[in-house]
Amino acid sequence: MPFRLRASRRYQSWGVQMTARILDGTKIRDQVFADLSAEIQRLGAQGIRPGLAAVLVGENPASQLYVKSKIAACEQLGLASWMYTPAAAVTTEELLKLVDKLNADDAVDGILIQLPLPAQVDTKRVLEAVDPAKDVDGFHPVSLGRLVSGRPGLVACTPAGCMEILRRGEINVEGANAVVLGRSDIVGKPMALLLMHANATVTMCHSKTRDLPDVVRHADIVVAAMGRAGYVAADWIRPGAAVIDVGTNKVTDAKEAERLLHNFPARLEKFRTKGSVLVGDVHPDAIHTAGALTPVPGGVGPMTITMLMSNTIKAARLRREKSGAQATPSAAGAR
Ligand code: NAP
Repeated sequence: MPFRLRASRRYQSWGVQMTARILDGTKIRDQVFADLSAEIQRLGAQGIRPGLAAVLVGENPASQLYVKSKIAACEQLGLASWMYTPAAAVTTEELLKLVDKLNADDAVDGILIQLPLPAQVDTKRVLEAVDPAKDVDGFHPVSLGRLVSGRPGLVACTPAGCMEILRRGEINVEGANAVVLGRSDIVGKPMALLLMHANATVTMCHSKTRDLPDVVRHADIVVAAMGRAGYVAADWIRPGAAVIDVGTNKVTDAKEAERLLHNFPARLEKFRTKGSVLVGDVHPDAIHTAGALTPVPGGVGPMTITMLMSNTIKAARLRREKSGAQATPSAAGAR
């Protein structure tokens, strides 16, 4: 890392434009899938077929698309999967009954409650009813507690995917200054904990942080998870730093697209044809200041489903290790 920082600054002072190494989430997903396939085979030899039950409430098109992709990933890897589709008018009690049934079903290793749930449902109660041993989203307080105390467990998929990108991208985390932008329960907080456990010196930022540009300028690793298109300017990024851009923002405004993509004519042209473009929280020009960077799309996005698959297999292994059981009867009543 230090050499890369020095080299990058020198090239810049010569007026040579640097381009960051792309941390390609699609390629890393393929590597992780290959490793998971080997583990699935090993489990298969012991008569174990890991299985994921997805609960999709109502007919939100984005949620339908996400769940479809998750089930497709299960099928690609040869995992068992079941989809439960309660109507949008479902009550908290009805969902709690379904969760109880899935908790009790030994064939189900992972339970996924697709969010958001309708307003009448008590989301916290439903998520907390999931057996922590099957909490493949890593949202349960027990899973978070295990993460805080550095015990093995199921970790939220997006931050776990970011760590996998750093590891497979050979970014040195130990001793690095890592800045996490955003403190949500599902991305920012677990991300900061994972980086801290990997021996980074972590700074967490949020909407009340003072002088954000200055904080970011000291970072060797920046993880941006704010939900603000192109908010992090290219010149906030320390030359050579690694940038993990979690932000997934759909831009539909032409002026905004111009501000973000004026140096990327092909992407701008695509925006004009399509009427929208996906942009991260970091300005795309950071490709010329960062040392390594995840693209949007194609960076963190593919890793979230990948880590869901990984968690399902991990849950299957950990549950069997705990119980010593091997049987996998199939879940009943799913669509
Ligand atoms: P969230 O719950 O809305 O949290 C956003 C965080 O960013 C909050 O902590 C907020 O601070 C902070 N923030 C907002 N504006 C800020 C500013 N101007 N300066 C500093 N901090 C600011 O979002 P999330 O669920 O964590 O998601 C973040 C982004 O990641 C979104 O774009 C989302 O679409 C994306 N995402 C992508 C994936 C994927 O698979 N690629 C998965 C999950 C999320 P406060 O706490 O002070 O309000």
